[in-house]
Amino acid sequence: MIQVFQYPHETLMQVSTEWKSEDSIVGYDDVERFETDMIKLMLDERGMGLAANQIGITKRFFAIGHDSFDTFQKHAIIWNPQVINSSEEKVIDVEGCLSFKDVFVKVERPKIIEVQYETTQGKTRFAKLNGMESKCFQHELDHLDGITFNKRVSKLRWQMANKG
Ligand SMILES: [Zn+2]
Repeated sequence: MIQVFQYPHETLMQVSTEWKSEDSIVGYDDVERFETDMIKLMLDERGMGLAANQIGITKRFFAIGHDSFDTFQKHAIIWNPQVINSSEEKVIDVEGCLSFKDVFVKVERPKIIEVQYETTQGKTRFAKLNGMESKCFQHELDHLDGITFNKRVSKLRWQMANKG
Protein backbone atom coordinates (compact mmCIF):
# COMPACT_ATOMS: atom_id res chain seq x y z
CA MET A 1 0.00 0.00 0.00
CA ILE A 2 1.26 3.45 -0.84
CA GLN A 3 1.20 6.20 1.75
CA VAL A 4 2.15 9.88 2.01
CA PHE A 5 5.38 10.43 3.95
CA GLN A 6 5.71 13.40 6.26
CA TYR A 7 8.59 15.86 6.29
CA PRO A 8 11.50 15.24 6.96
CA HIS A 9 11.24 11.80 5.31
CA GLU A 10 14.48 11.22 3.39
CA THR A 11 12.98 10.90 -0.13
CA LEU A 12 11.49 14.41 0.19
CA MET A 13 15.03 15.83 0.10
CA GLN A 14 16.20 13.76 -2.88
CA VAL A 15 16.35 14.80 -6.53
CA SER A 16 14.28 12.40 -8.60
CA THR A 17 15.51 10.81 -11.82
CA GLU A 18 13.83 10.65 -15.22
CA TRP A 19 10.96 8.17 -15.69
CA LYS A 20 11.83 5.79 -18.52
CA SER A 21 9.26 3.79 -20.46
CA GLU A 22 10.82 0.51 -19.31
CA ASP A 23 10.57 1.55 -15.64
CA SER A 24 8.05 -0.12 -13.36
CA ILE A 25 6.62 0.55 -9.92
CA VAL A 26 7.54 -1.90 -7.18
CA GLY A 27 4.47 -3.88 -6.15
CA TYR A 28 2.51 -3.11 -9.34
CA ASP A 29 2.18 -5.18 -12.53
CA ASP A 30 0.80 -2.31 -14.55
CA VAL A 31 1.09 1.43 -14.39
CA GLU A 32 -2.65 2.02 -14.82
CA ARG A 33 -3.44 0.23 -11.56
CA PHE A 34 -0.78 2.25 -9.78
CA GLU A 35 -2.19 5.44 -11.29
CA THR A 36 -5.63 4.62 -9.90
CA ASP A 37 -4.18 4.00 -6.41
CA MET A 38 -2.02 7.13 -6.39
CA ILE A 39 -4.90 9.38 -7.49
CA LYS A 40 -7.18 7.76 -4.93
CA LEU A 41 -4.58 8.44 -2.22
CA MET A 42 -4.31 12.08 -3.30
CA LEU A 43 -8.09 12.52 -3.22
CA ASP A 44 -8.45 10.71 0.13
CA GLU A 45 -5.91 13.19 1.54
CA ARG A 46 -7.79 16.07 -0.12
CA GLY A 47 -4.81 17.14 -2.23
CA MET A 48 -4.67 18.63 -5.73
CA GLY A 49 -1.15 17.35 -6.33
CA LEU A 50 1.04 14.52 -5.06
CA ALA A 51 4.64 13.97 -6.08
CA ALA A 52 6.26 10.54 -6.47
CA ASN A 53 8.86 11.18 -3.78
CA GLN A 54 6.09 12.02 -1.29
CA ILE A 55 5.19 8.33 -1.51
CA GLY A 56 8.84 7.27 -1.47
CA ILE A 57 9.51 6.88 -5.21
CA THR A 58 12.35 9.08 -6.50
CA LYS A 59 11.23 9.16 -10.15
CA ARG A 60 10.02 12.23 -12.05
CA PHE A 61 6.23 12.10 -12.01
CA PHE A 62 3.36 13.49 -10.00
CA ALA A 63 -0.41 13.28 -9.72
CA ILE A 64 -2.33 16.50 -10.35
CA GLY A 65 -5.94 17.48 -10.76
CA HIS A 66 -8.84 19.57 -9.50
CA ASP A 67 -12.31 20.47 -10.74
CA SER A 68 -11.30 24.13 -10.93
CA PHE A 69 -8.28 23.48 -13.21
CA ASP A 70 -8.35 24.03 -16.98
CA THR A 71 -5.77 21.50 -18.23
CA PHE A 72 -5.88 18.96 -15.41
CA GLN A 73 -9.59 19.05 -14.65
CA LYS A 74 -9.46 15.28 -14.83
CA HIS A 75 -6.98 13.83 -12.33
CA ALA A 76 -3.90 12.35 -13.95
CA ILE A 77 -0.35 11.32 -13.37
CA ILE A 78 2.08 13.19 -15.56
CA TRP A 79 5.57 11.95 -16.31
CA ASN A 80 8.86 13.84 -16.72
CA PRO A 81 7.16 17.23 -16.23
CA GLN A 82 9.16 20.38 -17.03
CA VAL A 83 8.61 24.12 -17.01
CA ILE A 84 9.80 25.48 -20.37
CA ASN A 85 8.82 29.11 -19.82
CA SER A 86 7.73 31.23 -16.83
CA SER A 87 6.21 34.70 -16.72
CA GLU A 88 8.17 37.59 -15.22
CA GLU A 89 5.05 38.40 -13.27
CA LYS A 90 4.87 36.67 -9.91
CA VAL A 91 2.03 35.99 -7.51
CA ILE A 92 1.97 35.28 -3.80
CA ASP A 93 -0.67 32.85 -2.65
CA VAL A 94 -1.31 30.29 0.05
CA GLU A 95 -0.08 26.74 -0.36
CA GLY A 96 -0.47 23.56 1.63
CA CYS A 97 1.41 20.28 1.28
CA LEU A 98 0.35 16.72 2.09
CA SER A 99 3.80 16.13 3.62
CA PHE A 100 3.26 19.01 6.09
CA LYS A 101 -0.02 18.43 7.87
CA ASP A 102 -1.93 21.62 8.72
CA VAL A 103 0.71 24.10 7.53
CA PHE A 104 -0.43 26.80 5.12
CA VAL A 105 1.98 29.45 3.96
CA LYS A 106 2.13 32.14 1.29
CA VAL A 107 4.69 31.34 -1.43
CA GLU A 108 5.78 33.58 -4.29
CA ARG A 109 5.98 31.96 -7.73
CA PRO A 110 5.77 32.93 -11.41
CA LYS A 111 2.13 33.57 -12.36
CA ILE A 112 1.98 31.81 -15.72
CA ILE A 113 4.07 28.87 -16.88
CA GLU A 114 4.40 26.87 -20.07
CA VAL A 115 4.98 23.21 -19.41
CA GLN A 116 5.83 19.96 -21.09
CA TYR A 117 5.09 16.46 -19.82
CA GLU A 118 4.33 12.92 -20.92
CA THR A 119 1.02 11.16 -20.51
CA THR A 120 0.71 7.63 -19.13
CA GLN A 121 0.34 6.52 -22.76
CA GLY A 122 3.75 8.04 -23.54
CA LYS A 123 2.52 11.07 -25.51
CA THR A 124 4.32 14.41 -25.08
CA ARG A 125 1.97 17.27 -24.25
CA PHE A 126 2.36 21.02 -23.82
CA ALA A 127 0.18 23.38 -21.81
CA LYS A 128 0.01 26.92 -20.47
CA LEU A 129 -1.02 27.08 -16.83
CA ASN A 130 -2.29 29.96 -14.74
CA GLY A 131 -3.70 30.52 -11.26
CA MET A 132 -3.84 27.70 -8.73
CA GLU A 133 -3.07 25.14 -11.43
CA SER A 134 0.23 26.88 -12.24
CA LYS A 135 1.09 27.10 -8.55
CA CYS A 136 0.27 23.45 -7.97
CA PHE A 137 2.42 22.31 -10.92
CA GLN A 138 5.38 24.36 -9.66
CA HIS A 139 4.96 23.05 -6.11
CA GLU A 140 4.95 19.42 -7.32
CA LEU A 141 7.87 19.97 -9.69
CA ASP A 142 9.85 21.43 -6.78
CA HIS A 143 9.25 18.16 -4.90
CA LEU A 144 10.93 16.24 -7.74
CA ASP A 145 13.97 18.46 -7.28
CA GLY A 146 14.01 17.78 -3.53
CA ILE A 147 12.67 21.25 -2.71
CA THR A 148 9.86 21.40 -0.15
CA PHE A 149 7.85 24.64 0.20
CA ASN A 150 9.48 25.61 3.53
CA LYS A 151 12.61 26.28 1.39
CA ARG A 152 10.70 28.82 -0.69
CA VAL A 153 9.77 31.20 2.14
CA SER A 154 11.64 33.25 4.71
CA LYS A 155 12.33 31.76 8.11
CA LEU A 156 10.05 34.32 9.73
CA ARG A 157 7.14 33.56 7.41
CA TRP A 158 7.64 29.85 8.01
CA GLN A 159 7.63 30.27 11.78
CA MET A 160 4.45 32.36 11.60
CA ALA A 161 2.72 29.73 9.45
CA ASN A 162 3.63 27.00 11.93
CA LYS A 163 2.10 28.91 14.80
CA GLY A 164 -1.22 28.57 12.95
ZN1 LIG B 1 3.84 19.28 -1.42
